[in-house]
Amino acid sequence: MKEATMNDPAWTYLADRDLTLGPVSRVEPGEFTHWRTSRDQDGVFWAVIDQQGSGTNTLSQAVLEEFSRILDLIEQRMPKALVIRSAKRDGFLAGADIAEFRDVDDEAAIRERIAAAHGVVDRLAALTIPTIAIMHGYALGGGLEIALACNQRNAVDGTRFGFPEVQIGLHPGLGGTARFTHLCDPIEAMSFMLTGKSIHDRQAKRMGLVDAVVPERHVEAAIAAAVRGDLDQAHQGLVGRIKDSAPARRLAARQMRAQAEDRAPSRHYPAPYALIDLWEEHGGDLDAMKQAEIASFARLMLTDAAQNLIRVFFLRQKLKDLAGKDAGIAQVHVIGAGAMGGDIAAWCAWKGLRTSLSDVSAEAIGAAVGRAAALYEKIAHGDRLKIRDALDRLIPDTAALGVTSADLVVEAAPEKAELKRKLYADAEPRMKPGAILATNTSSIPLKELREGLERPERLIGIHFFNPVSRLDLVEVVTHDGTDEKVAARARAFVGHIGKLPAAAGSAPGFIVNRVLTPYLAEALTLMDEGVPPEIIDKAATDFGMPVGPLELADQVGLDIGLAVAEMLKRELDWPIPDAPQWLRDKVKARELGKKTGKGIYVWKDGKAVKGHTAKRAAETSNMDLADRLILPMVNTAVAVLREGVTDDPEVIDAAMIFGTGFAPFRGGPIHYARQRGAGEIVSALNDLARRHGPRFEPDAGWSEGGRFEEDGPIAHETP
Ligand code: NAD
Repeated sequence: MKEATMNDPAWTYLADRDLTLGPVSRVEPGEFTHWRTSRDQDGVFWAVIDQQGSGTNTLSQAVLEEFSRILDLIEQRMPKALVIRSAKRDGFLAGADIAEFRDVDDEAAIRERIAAAHGVVDRLAALTIPTIAIMHGYALGGGLEIALACNQRNAVDGTRFGFPEVQIGLHPGLGGTARFTHLCDPIEAMSFMLTGKSIHDRQAKRMGLVDAVVPERHVEAAIAAAVRGDLDQAHQGLVGRIKDSAPARRLAARQMRAQAEDRAPSRHYPAPYALIDLWEEHGGDLDAMKQAEIASFARLMLTDAAQNLIRVFFLRQKLKDLAGKDAGIAQVHVIGAGAMGGDIAAWCAWKGLRTSLSDVSAEAIGAAVGRAAALYEKIAHGDRLKIRDALDRLIPDTAALGVTSADLVVEAAPEKAELKRKLYADAEPRMKPGAILATNTSSIPLKELREGLERPERLIGIHFFNPVSRLDLVEVVTHDGTDEKVAARARAFVGHIGKLPAAAGSAPGFIVNRVLTPYLAEALTLMDEGVPPEIIDKAATDFGMPVGPLELADQVGLDIGLAVAEMLKRELDWPIPDAPQWLRDKVKARELGKKTGKGIYVWKDGKAVKGHTAKRAAETSNMDLADRLILPMVNTAVAVLREGVTDDPEVIDAAMIFGTGFAPFRGGPIHYARQRGAGEIVSALNDLARRHGPRFEPDAGWSEGGRFEEDGPIAHETP
């Protein structure tokens, strides 16, 4: 660490300190590509991971092989202690290199590879000297498993920990399932691994995952204390051991399965259940559980669910990469403080941008600030300063003065072209020369909105989804005159606020609403045919949708759904079914769904109340219903591709997964079609068209082949 001296200016004392990386000046020369090794004057060996060519450390094969050679050195020289830490500023180790998990097909070979990796980690665990992991930033997946094999785990303030493997259809595979349940309360450890969520340092300390949490400046002292054996080490304790006994495991496993079934049904997501089986059978027996973990991990890796979820991981990565950098946007002004505008402004302020918010109604601005405070309260994990700073950045601006200094003006006023154009006529002359004008419109073609603009090339659609804080996707919509630099900056802005940009042309409904609408429309038609809503929704959730189409329609708002459907029907001359009269009546009666407490369902405490048919629905499984709902979506996805709304099938898959929750383990609508087979889908569509009408007729894109047939590569960058 570089210590400030008396001659340094005062701010040196306040500046971020460097990471404590041992005697870096005496790094042992040239032996390793991804690790720096050195030995300090106390005889402590420092193994500092600094993966070459990557801003984030991952546990790739190459990194692990080098670590094995480091262990050779340590076994020969037996230093006084071993410290493992990362040289990357942002964190410790982000887990396995997931790119190495893609397109694998030989279970025995995977097992062999995992067993070899286990061998390396077991050697670390077997060292008789103090082995100390110093974690900062984050320690995830395989990185955390390395730390678990050390006998001392220290974290720098603010570190996050997580086992996100279930999110890609796996469970920890480097001995973590066994070591973690052995070290901590096994039920807490299991729940942590089963949800895949991350936890903060204090929670990790409380559950015994780390032994100490220290500020960076105390890292050296903590290491010295650990070497002396002065730091307490976490142990599972008696209660933990009882919970790890066979009868207790059986009981707990049953409960875990029931809970998991609600979140991730076993027929679609095998990983949580494999993890529960593993612990139920082998918990308490470290070696047996490690062995069984290898076989279970290899089996999971080859499931469709894991391979598709891994693909989704890379789709997210791809959109992040497409965002690019340098938006050049520090200040945002949002016009319209309603459901969307208010939440967009709140999100931008949360993400560090100075954001002013205007509306014709001061009450709307007040309500939006109130919602922002409630949101920050939820997501700040008790960090009062962060909440205060975000609220400071969110500026109520009844006079819309922020328009003049903003780098980006986002209009989220009601969905009326004339009103929006009027707002632009007022705002445009006041905007800075380089500023971008964005609209959050869901349905109005940009070529209609650009009329009358002095500089139409700086108009763009930045289409957020509701709820803004929870849905990661944002469509970045261009018209044929949008300046490409403006589009690039808009994508970078979306990336900067932690969202995923999907570039789309200004065709009706863009990507997401266009693909989603026939699904919602078909659900309404089924209702008209007398099928109870619970049964319709169940067919979709059985397919893997997070909620059924009717519950979703209620969540989005029946008024909004109706307006989008009517616009699409009009603009595209599309044979989707007409909205039923009862739906129009509901909208007139302000029975709009969740937001008014009643729509297709009655809503209580934020949940749809399912009627008596729910039980019948639970017992029915109906593939024909699922096809009637899902295939129109797939068919439309192919149309969107053929029309060139986007020319990248992966952007469609990603948009539907991150914008609507389309069954992620199916990999998106286009990927689903490829896996099921285009021929089979076309014949199912023809069959549906014969029975139910021309709306099911296969799109021309199926026979044109072209983009649909290509299975273009997706980015292989490491996470
Ligand atoms: P909303 O009715 O909740 O909010 C609109 C706000 O604009 C209101 O607070 C209103 O007072 C204000 N307003 C009206 N006239 C104004 C003016 N002249 N100047 C400034 N403010 C004015 O609507 P919303 O649901 O937030 O939708 C806003 C936009 O976002 C629409 O274009 C809509 O299509 C789009 N959108 C909505 C959703 C959604 O789910 N609600 C999703 C994506 C996009």
